[in-house]
Amino acid sequence: MAEDSIFTKIINREIPSEILYEDEYCIAIKDIAPKAPTHVLVIPRREIPKLVDAKAEDQELLGHLMLATAKVAKQLGVDDAFRVIINNGSGAGQTVFHLHIHILAQKNFSESNLGF
Ligand code: AMP
Repeated sequence: MAEDSIFTKIINREIPSEILYEDEYCIAIKDIAPKAPTHVLVIPRREIPKLVDAKAEDQELLGHLMLATAKVAKQLGVDDAFRVIINNGSGAGQTVFHLHIHILAQKNFSESNLGF
Protein backbone atom coordinates (compact mmCIF):
# COMPACT_ATOMS: atom_id res chain seq x y z
CA MET A 1 0.00 0.00 0.00
CA ALA A 2 1.23 3.49 -0.84
CA GLU A 3 2.49 5.61 2.01
CA ASP A 4 0.10 8.22 3.40
CA SER A 5 0.59 11.71 2.00
CA ILE A 6 2.02 14.41 4.23
CA PHE A 7 -1.48 15.92 4.40
CA THR A 8 -3.01 12.62 5.55
CA LYS A 9 -0.33 12.51 8.25
CA ILE A 10 -1.37 16.04 9.30
CA ILE A 11 -5.05 15.01 9.28
CA ASN A 12 -4.16 11.99 11.43
CA ARG A 13 -2.13 14.22 13.80
CA GLU A 14 1.03 12.26 13.02
CA ILE A 15 2.83 15.47 12.14
CA PRO A 16 2.02 18.92 13.52
CA SER A 17 0.35 21.72 11.62
CA GLU A 18 -1.63 24.85 12.35
CA ILE A 19 -5.19 23.72 11.78
CA LEU A 20 -7.64 26.57 11.14
CA TYR A 21 -10.78 24.64 10.26
CA GLU A 22 -12.00 21.09 10.00
CA ASP A 23 -15.20 19.23 9.36
CA GLU A 24 -16.30 15.74 8.39
CA TYR A 25 -14.83 15.97 4.88
CA CYS A 26 -11.91 18.38 4.94
CA ILE A 27 -9.37 20.32 6.92
CA ALA A 28 -7.78 23.76 6.43
CA ILE A 29 -4.21 24.43 7.53
CA LYS A 30 -1.72 27.28 7.31
CA ASP A 31 0.77 26.73 4.52
CA ILE A 32 4.21 26.06 5.98
CA ALA A 33 5.91 28.27 3.36
CA PRO A 34 3.40 31.08 2.75
CA LYS A 35 3.48 32.83 -0.64
CA ALA A 36 1.14 35.57 0.61
CA PRO A 37 0.33 37.07 4.04
CA THR A 38 -2.66 34.72 4.15
CA HIS A 39 -1.92 31.31 2.63
CA VAL A 40 -4.15 28.46 3.66
CA LEU A 41 -4.69 24.99 2.21
CA VAL A 42 -8.09 23.32 2.14
CA ILE A 43 -7.55 19.57 1.98
CA PRO A 44 -10.08 16.75 1.63
CA ARG A 45 -9.71 13.90 4.11
CA ARG A 46 -10.09 11.55 1.14
CA GLU A 47 -6.71 11.24 -0.56
CA ILE A 48 -7.27 12.16 -4.21
CA PRO A 49 -3.79 12.68 -5.74
CA LYS A 50 -4.71 15.28 -8.37
CA LEU A 51 -7.81 17.11 -9.54
CA VAL A 52 -7.83 14.99 -12.72
CA ASP A 53 -8.07 11.86 -10.54
CA ALA A 54 -11.41 13.00 -9.12
CA LYS A 55 -14.29 10.76 -10.15
CA ALA A 56 -18.00 11.32 -10.62
CA GLU A 57 -18.54 10.07 -7.06
CA ASP A 58 -16.30 12.90 -5.80
CA GLN A 59 -18.69 15.55 -7.12
CA GLU A 60 -20.26 16.25 -3.75
CA LEU A 61 -16.86 16.37 -2.07
CA LEU A 62 -15.53 18.87 -4.63
CA GLY A 63 -18.55 21.10 -4.06
CA HIS A 64 -18.05 20.78 -0.32
CA LEU A 65 -14.41 21.88 -0.69
CA MET A 66 -15.51 25.03 -2.53
CA LEU A 67 -18.03 25.89 0.18
CA ALA A 68 -15.45 25.15 2.89
CA THR A 69 -13.00 27.42 1.06
CA ALA A 70 -15.53 30.27 1.18
CA LYS A 71 -16.23 29.54 4.84
CA VAL A 72 -12.53 29.62 5.72
CA ALA A 73 -12.04 32.87 3.77
CA LYS A 74 -14.89 34.40 5.80
CA GLN A 75 -13.46 33.02 9.04
CA LEU A 76 -10.13 34.65 8.18
CA GLY A 77 -11.82 37.93 7.22
CA VAL A 78 -10.44 37.91 3.69
CA ASP A 79 -13.68 37.08 1.86
CA ASP A 80 -13.71 40.39 -0.01
CA ALA A 81 -10.48 39.54 -1.89
CA PHE A 82 -8.82 36.19 -2.13
CA ARG A 83 -7.50 33.91 -4.83
CA VAL A 84 -8.08 30.17 -5.12
CA ILE A 85 -5.53 27.96 -6.83
CA ILE A 86 -5.30 24.24 -7.52
CA ASN A 87 -2.04 23.03 -9.01
CA ASN A 88 -2.56 19.88 -11.06
CA GLY A 89 0.64 18.00 -11.91
CA SER A 90 4.29 18.75 -11.29
CA GLY A 91 4.44 20.79 -14.51
CA ALA A 92 1.97 23.18 -12.89
CA GLY A 93 3.93 23.28 -9.64
CA GLN A 94 2.12 20.56 -7.68
CA THR A 95 4.48 19.19 -5.05
CA VAL A 96 2.11 17.36 -2.71
CA PHE A 97 0.04 14.72 -4.47
CA HIS A 98 -3.01 14.96 -2.28
CA LEU A 99 -5.57 17.35 -3.76
CA HIS A 100 -5.66 20.73 -2.04
CA ILE A 101 -6.99 24.21 -2.66
CA HIS A 102 -4.72 27.17 -1.98
CA ILE A 103 -6.36 30.28 -0.52
CA LEU A 104 -4.16 33.33 -1.00
CA ALA A 105 -5.04 36.78 0.29
CA GLN A 106 -3.72 40.16 1.44
CA LYS A 107 -1.50 40.27 -1.59
CA ASN A 108 -1.40 42.69 -4.51
CA PHE A 109 -3.43 40.81 -7.09
CA SER A 110 -2.84 43.45 -9.75
CA GLU A 111 0.46 41.72 -10.47
CA SER A 112 0.09 40.18 -13.89
CA ASN A 113 1.80 36.84 -13.20
CA LEU A 114 -0.36 33.83 -12.62
CA GLY A 115 2.06 32.39 -10.10
CA PHE A 116 1.79 32.94 -6.38
P1 AMP B 1 1.41 22.41 -4.27
O1 AMP B 1 2.73 22.96 -4.76
O2 AMP B 1 0.21 22.98 -4.98
O3 AMP B 1 1.43 20.89 -4.26
O4 AMP B 1 1.26 22.90 -2.79
C1 AMP B 1 1.80 22.23 -1.71
C2 AMP B 1 1.86 23.22 -0.60
O5 AMP B 1 1.98 22.50 0.60
C3 AMP B 1 3.06 24.17 -0.68
O6 AMP B 1 2.60 25.52 -0.71
C4 AMP B 1 3.86 23.85 0.59
O7 AMP B 1 4.43 24.99 1.18
C5 AMP B 1 2.77 23.24 1.49
N1 AMP B 1 3.25 22.32 2.49
C6 AMP B 1 4.12 21.28 2.32
N2 AMP B 1 4.30 20.64 3.49
C7 AMP B 1 3.53 21.26 4.41
C8 AMP B 1 3.28 21.07 5.80
N3 AMP B 1 3.88 20.09 6.50
N4 AMP B 1 2.42 21.91 6.42
C9 AMP B 1 1.82 22.89 5.73
N5 AMP B 1 1.99 23.13 4.43
C10 AMP B 1 2.85 22.33 3.77
